[in-house]
Amino acid sequence: MTLIINNLKDIQKNIQVACQKAGREVSDITIIAVTKQVSTERAIEALDAGLTHLGENRPEGLLEKRETIADRATWHYIGSMQTRKVRKVIDQIDYLHSLDRISLAEEIHKRANQTVNCFVQVNVSAEEAKHGLSPEEVITFIEQLSNFPHIRVVGLMTMAPNTEDQELIRSVFKGLKKLQLEIASKGYEYAPCTELSMGMSNDYEIAIEEGATFIRIGTALVGNERRDSNEDER
Ligand SMILES: *Cc1c(COP(=O)(O)O)cnc(C)c1O
Repeated sequence: MTLIINNLKDIQKNIQVACQKAGREVSDITIIAVTKQVSTERAIEALDAGLTHLGENRPEGLLEKRETIADRATWHYIGSMQTRKVRKVIDQIDYLHSLDRISLAEEIHKRANQTVNCFVQVNVSAEEAKHGLSPEEVITFIEQLSNFPHIRVVGLMTMAPNTEDQELIRSVFKGLKKLQLEIASKGYEYAPCTELSMGMSNDYEIAIEEGATFIRIGTALVGNERRDSNEDER
């Protein structure tokens, strides 16, 4: 518990500084505690520390934690979503951060019993290994989503490249912001696209400076129990 409380204090301080630099309000930033590397017990500690948004990247992890935590949290699914797993999880989550293909939209539309808040995932840095649409594809893709009334495009999501090059990271976040503004300006009712899901443990301050509204923080906030236990085995 103290681990998370102390981490959260540091992160909140950093958020405040980044907001000040950018002339933004701290209340515009939502922290998603990414609990994919930690136990249900530690996820509960995160809630006890005052966090209310949790992120998971696998159906198994989400459902397991949900069994205990249920409606104490707002649930974010941040990993790539296999079409055949949609049915199991789609009514158990509040936000999906990884909408990246029409076949997935079709399956969500078919299986969901309510409107699903979705982020369209964009591969701004054009890295081979990353999921997401290329920036050029995003607008056409979002226009096609008008056929699926269960899908609401709340915003865009990206992952910056894993690099020390801060300016490269910044340019990726800037690119996503530009695209978000372009889509929001179209005024689609099903795609308000007001939100930006970007920034992780290593780059959330830059993301905030560039307009992030949801930051997804795992290691720096709740730690990584899997890595710790691997280290014990060595
Ligand atoms: C794991 C993960 C995070 C959190 O990563 P940390 O570096 O541990 O903060 C954020 N977003 C996505 C999509 C992830 O898979």
